[in-house]
Amino acid sequence: RRAQFAALRDQPSISKDGTRIALMVNAGLRDDAAALDITGADGIGLFRTEFQFLVSATLPMRQQQQRLYRDVLDAAGDRPVVFRTVDIGGDKALPYMRQEEEQEENPAMGWRALRVALDRGGLMKPQARALLEAAAGRTLNVMFPMVSEPWEFDQAHAIFEAQRTWLLARGKRVPAAVKYGAMLEVPALAEVLDIILPKLNFLSIGTNDLTQFLFAADRANPRLAERYDWLSPAILRFLSRVSKTTREHDVPVTVCGEMGGRPLEAMALLGLGIERLSITPAAIGPVKAMVRSLDLAALRADMPGFLASPPSDMRAAMAAWASANDV
Ligand code: PEP
Ligand code: MG
Repeated sequence: RRAQFAALRDQPSISKDGTRIALMVNAGLRDDAAALDITGADGIGLFRTEFQFLVSATLPMRQQQQRLYRDVLDAAGDRPVVFRTVDIGGDKALPYMRQEEEQEENPAMGWRALRVALDRGGLMKPQARALLEAAAGRTLNVMFPMVSEPWEFDQAHAIFEAQRTWLLARGKRVPAAVKYGAMLEVPALAEVLDIILPKLNFLSIGTNDLTQFLFAADRANPRLAERYDWLSPAILRFLSRVSKTTREHDVPVTVCGEMGGRPLEAMALLGLGIERLSITPAAIGPVKAMVRSLDLAALRADMPGFLASPPSDMRAAMAAWASANDV
């Protein structure tokens, strides 16, 4: 099967009935850009910039950050790269950064990701500068993790725009375009999509954190790992609403959590209207094979029925649909 997936490298990611599905990879290290050539992916849909911070002995200097981002953009060439600003704090603590006084009881729901970045300008501003400089003359795609309310996006956006203005005022080169996105990982944001979507160039759903918060189940707790299913009616209905709302607002939506890297889950996501996935490189082959064998229109015709009166075992029902339809 590995050889079969390798042979798919240069085949387009198009469903049997002709819908183009964007398949991108998740990355975080300089060398990960090589995965683009190995897999034939359409781009990097999630570049986890915190990796550099986590492996460094000290806070990475702006120049170091800039070099990494430029190397990744160079390696990606014409293929887009979506940089996510640092997602640290909580359990991804930086030893060299002074944490707030005491241990947090619930680090996943604590002072992390964009919350830290907005409170610590010393983190966000140099990163914004580094990204803007690295993407000079090209398109910069940047997104913010764990946006919980629209004002958090507004503040992050303002920090980037202030840095861009600063560079322009000094006659420095800036990106040809900056596209801003938010990650949907906190369920509360889904209730205010009508408010935030008009501000966004794209939305990216982080299903790892999103399901953790929807089910109130720690994603790192092995006891809970098998307990809730990504193919549960609650998740599928939730994602179906989000997908519909993004379509109404004409904002591209990507799923960048691990859910999209499993063929059956990916199939369900396509059935819900999602046409962009960013997944682990090893999943590109299996997911592309699924896409190319799928009659997407047939699935979309059946999906509302699955959502309206969910079968008692949604996973089994999806698997049965797939096998009955030669997926
Ligand atoms: C997610 O939460 O789904 C996500 C993509 O981000 P991370 O796994 O890095 O938290
Ligand atoms: Mg996350």
